[in-house]
Amino acid sequence: MARPKPAASEGGHNQVLTLEDETGAFRAVRLSDGTEIAADLCIVAMGAQPNVEWLDGSGLDAGPGGLRCDVHCRAMSQDGTPHPFIFTAGDVALWPCPLYGGEEVSIGHWSNAVEQARIAASNMLAGADRLQIHSYLPTFWSNQARVTVKAVGHAGLADEVKVAQGALEEGRFVAIYGRQGKVVAAVSVDYGLYMEHYAYLVRTCAEFPPPSIFHNSVEDEPPEASA
Ligand SMILES: Cc1cc2nc3c(=O)[nH]c(=O)nc-3n(C[C@H](O)[C@H](O)[C@H](O)COP(=O)(O)OP(=O)(O)OC[C@H]3O[C@@H](n4cnc5c(N)ncnc54)[C@H](O)[C@@H]3O)c2cc1C
Repeated sequence: MARPKPAASEGGHNQVLTLEDETGAFRAVRLSDGTEIAADLCIVAMGAQPNVEWLDGSGLDAGPGGLRCDVHCRAMSQDGTPHPFIFTAGDVALWPCPLYGGEEVSIGHWSNAVEQARIAASNMLAGADRLQIHSYLPTFWSNQARVTVKAVGHAGLADEVKVAQGALEEGRFVAIYGRQGKVVAAVSVDYGLYMEHYAYLVRTCAEFPPPSIFHNSVEDEPPEASA
């Protein structure tokens, strides 16, 4: 199966024009710049758009990526300073994630919304000298057509991916994602038993690929490094 990069990462504003088929079977996607990408599977995904229009004229730094905030969840003003009394949490927040060297991320997961709201509420009450940092490790799980998917980290940042346990053919596996030689994320498909171990690898920015991790059987034990 061909796995082309998403169109957005190849040309910025490239759009899907048509899905080409041959005798009823999907075979390629045609983009607005005329490119045709051959593939035998098409996955259509919908994103979310932050509702920030109502902040126009407020002086806050809001845009298509969300409402920018600092690591303490304080909303950023357009002059680049954090607002002392306005805090941000959840899908709408665009924040510098300490785990990824301060790179700005927007995490559309239920658990981030809960944790960021907890930090924001705590910081509202704490006073400027006792602010907590939102250093959340992105995680989510979901059931899709009786398949359980679990994820830790931010796979969208990766430049490499490898199957660490199980196999695609078995329909049960863990894929780990690396960027510049460091583990940044892991996704399990019906293989979630060791996700705490992979969370540890992401949190500690472990070397990618981790040397001892590759196993082929779903019965394998996690490597000792997880302790
Ligand atoms: C179809 C779908 C499936 C998902 N599945 C998963 C999953 O499996 N696992 C997972 O972790 N996450 C999942 N998510 C994401 C998860 O639902 C969100 O991350 C989470 O709800 C974010 O919470 P929030 O409070 O930041 O935003 P929301 O839950 O979107 O709440 C924002 C609220 O603000 C209100 N609002 C917006 N603008 C205004 C305004 N101007 N004035 C007043 N009110 C306003 C909205 O109506 C809404 O009620 C899913 C999301 C969708 C859409």
